[in-house]
Amino acid sequence: MKIKLLYFFSLLFLLASCSRNPVTGKREVMLMSEGQEKSLGKQSDPGIIQSFGLYQDDEIQKFINQKGLEMAKISHRPELDYKFRVLDSPVVNAFAVPGGYVYFTRGILAHFNNEAEFSGVLGHEIGHITARHSAKQYTKQMISQVLFVGGLIFSEDFRKFAGEAQQGLGLLMLKFGRDHESESDRLGVEYSSEVGYDAHEMANFFNTLSKMQSASGQSIPDFLSTHPNPVDRNRKVGEMATATQKNNPNKNYKVNRDKYLRMIDGLVYGEDPKQGYVEQNAFYHPELKFQFPIPPNWKCVNSPSQVQLAPADGKAAVVMMLSQENSLQTAAQKFVQENKLNLIESNNQNIHGNNAKVIMCDYTPDAQTGGKPLRILTYFIQYNNLIYQFNCMSEKLNFSKYFNSMKTVPSGFKKLTDPSKINKLPERLKIVKAPKTASLKQLLTDNKMSTSQQKTLALLNGMNLNDQVKAGTLFKILERKK
Ligand SMILES: [Zn+2]
Repeated sequence: MKIKLLYFFSLLFLLASCSRNPVTGKREVMLMSEGQEKSLGKQSDPGIIQSFGLYQDDEIQKFINQKGLEMAKISHRPELDYKFRVLDSPVVNAFAVPGGYVYFTRGILAHFNNEAEFSGVLGHEIGHITARHSAKQYTKQMISQVLFVGGLIFSEDFRKFAGEAQQGLGLLMLKFGRDHESESDRLGVEYSSEVGYDAHEMANFFNTLSKMQSASGQSIPDFLSTHPNPVDRNRKVGEMATATQKNNPNKNYKVNRDKYLRMIDGLVYGEDPKQGYVEQNAFYHPELKFQFPIPPNWKCVNSPSQVQLAPADGKAAVVMMLSQENSLQTAAQKFVQENKLNLIESNNQNIHGNNAKVIMCDYTPDAQTGGKPLRILTYFIQYNNLIYQFNCMSEKLNFSKYFNSMKTVPSGFKKLTDPSKINKLPERLKIVKAPKTASLKQLLTDNKMSTSQQKTLALLNGMNLNDQVKAGTLFKILERKK
């Protein structure tokens, strides 16, 4: 949950036109004109920034701008006005939006181990833009993967009330087909080799991604979703890198491992507590200064626009978000009207010193949309000039079964005052030098990394725990630090 309210924008109406592809030189039917591409990028960018926030680090931003522009210049479309952004998200992802917009999350930056890996991914993303892989297929899949790291934790029936429409999840992203991914891989090799990086490193990075996917079940939207076989992809990229280097035998291909690692020293890793976190059956938000309880054994997913809670069976859900209205009365009215709800009960309450409006409604799906009849208990709580909305819902049939657990969440909403909760520190990458040659496991143990941290760090370092690390090698550990 981030403090920023979300920005809304609509998808451009797509018109087919015919123009020359800058990469292939062939005439082909394009779904968007260049002008449409540019305005799609321009329109989407503020929404993406507002949803995720930009990660503030001048050195990293400068590096990304410099490398991005350098590559853009040698690409097939040097004339576009490129923008390179670092998003404040722990999710591992990079993506491009038509018109020249390229995004990296801090999560993916934490997983790169050298400039060459970064450059390969940069080339891949710029490739989507230059080869005009635009708008063949728009889906919501990617954005939901970006926002919901933990996947959907409750029944599909509740989606309508999970704030999707009003919370800007309508943010549409491109999901490219397999041919486009292959073409972008090829362009990634071409571009990153051209600016002087060893593209074999890009191939290696696929290993990290596939290990990560199997370790956590986390999906990697752009890089793996359309590629069932990352091993094969790794091999192909490796072969292309070798071939490219053979054609230019006198060129020196850089990796720049130490330089990259020094740059990301101190990068926030994982959830940043200031965006809200869970600890012992409670959710705390240090910036917005609130807390609420989580029923025992319920799951919690904190995304930029909302917090979702659900029991293990997924048959009930509590979704917390910010209402866009400025009074309790209008917030409640609009919610009922817009969702065509049947209002059963409505009252005003005081929740730990904050004014609240509480309504109970029934939702009957129409024959067209289908789904099950739901009962929804909604709390609108006014706190610090914002209206917090809690939708507590289940199938009407089950409502009494979940009522008590659900109700504890909004009725426990209160001001956060505990300084230890407000000042919880994020985990950050720390770059250290191996004092001796030893296994990664040994070195991490020497640095007091726990077993679960060691697993994470093997991935972050792109190694296995039993790999030998030579004395003097830089590697990543984690520390809690302001
Ligand atoms: Zn791609």
